[in-house]
Amino acid sequence: MKLVLATHNKDKISELQGVLKNEQVSILTCDDFPELPEVFEDGETLEENALKKAREIHQYTQLPVLADDTGLEVRALGGAPGVKSSRYAGDHASYADNVTKLLKEMSQIPKEQREARFRTVMVYLDDRHQITTEGEVQGYILEEIRGRGGFGYDPVFYYPPLRKTFSELSLPEKNSVSHRGQALLKMIKTLREKHILTEV
Ligand code: IMP
Repeated sequence: MKLVLATHNKDKISELQGVLKNEQVSILTCDDFPELPEVFEDGETLEENALKKAREIHQYTQLPVLADDTGLEVRALGGAPGVKSSRYAGDHASYADNVTKLLKEMSQIPKEQREARFRTVMVYLDDRHQITTEGEVQGYILEEIRGRGGFGYDPVFYYPPLRKTFSELSLPEKNSVSHRGQALLKMIKTLREKHILTEV
């Protein structure tokens, strides 16, 4: 079967492909559809945005779609940046711009109050099924960046069980504990149970 990953983000695509490599599935991404209209992620929740991406891309491609929306929720900031994670420092903000803004906003917050979580909502959509799964991971926001891997807020997201930031983890390590990895593993389990996916 063909499956369209509802993103242009190369970092996300690598992570998702890493977990999907054992499935009998031919993976496409938004880059395979140059005329695809842009999806405006203007929902108020991760759930709304994930479903919007899945619906619009399914309507255009007529193929099964897997969409995810992720937010970093910092407790001391009342859950910000949350659904606005990609544009925290402005509409066309880079990963570095967003991390810089986050560290600035948190400059007065002591170590023990810097808890945060990543949360992912994932939606699979085809002509007959709509399935939603979620994944989340708890950690802390460091006061400065650490590590070179990953993307987005990974260099400041410290994961206590492994005593590393997400940027210091290999791709398989990150996938085994991350928000997106967990949401995807749950999704794969459900898709296999429904015989939508089969293992290689
Ligand atoms: P999206 O809307 O799901 O593409 O994600 C929104 C933003 O959250 C991205 O632009 C990244 O800044 C951040 N983000 C998403 N996933 C991750 C991750 O796994 N690690 C770090 N940051 C992430």
